[in-house]
Amino acid sequence: MSHFDAQRAAMVQEQLEGRNIYDQRVLTAMRKIPRERFVDEAMRERAYEDAPLPIGSGQTISQPYMVARMCELGRFEGSERVLEIGAGSGYQTAVLCELARSVYAVEVRPELGYAALRRLATLGYHNVEIGVFDGSCGWPDKAPFDVILVAAGAPQIPPLLVDQLAESGRLIIPVGPRQGQRLAVVTRKGEEFSTEWTTPCTFVDLVGRFGWGGDGPGRA
Ligand code: SAH
Repeated sequence: MSHFDAQRAAMVQEQLEGRNIYDQRVLTAMRKIPRERFVDEAMRERAYEDAPLPIGSGQTISQPYMVARMCELGRFEGSERVLEIGAGSGYQTAVLCELARSVYAVEVRPELGYAALRRLATLGYHNVEIGVFDGSCGWPDKAPFDVILVAAGAPQIPPLLVDQLAESGRLIIPVGPRQGQRLAVVTRKGEEFSTEWTTPCTFVDLVGRFGWGGDGPGRA
């Protein structure tokens, strides 16, 4: 067992199970995926810290707990088509590849998107496509999605993401001011949408048309 395997087991036990993450499929996926492979060489020894870490381009790999929490809110059973906005390092993308049938991941920064694609291929994940473009408008060609998960903080709920939900689909997205957001869960039932406001969190900015600096109320 490498020291990373021991750190990974401790992370799942202390940071996830210890904070009431109950979804066994999420716990199993995060016990398996080598998080140290999703950060730069110089950052490897810190890969299992209880915090986000820099991945270059001013962005971060999300805190393990936040990845687990978002995935748990997705209530995956294994047959879903999922859209992820903000692939970043590709770590959460790998977790989603373990939880869902097919993963469509979008990353607006090309250097991060292509690095994530290479890592996922090296680790043998083939049920994923990565798009490099502004994901605040979703991925209309691939819609509808059973779950849409956004890993960057938005000033508002992007309307085009809601439109791309399948029946009973769920959108999980951090929404609110830059200093602190809440994970919103929007659920579709026919043409009705209900929103539940859950865990407080702080994510890096969602950019693009419906992010910060776009044409919505989040104009910077
Ligand atoms: N889950 C990722 C989080 C990365 S941080 C991880 O753990 O590595 C959020 C990412 O969202 C950044 O890589 C950023 O470039 C990306 N992002 C921000 N706005 C975006 C947009 N409009 N479309 C796609 N990606 C976006």
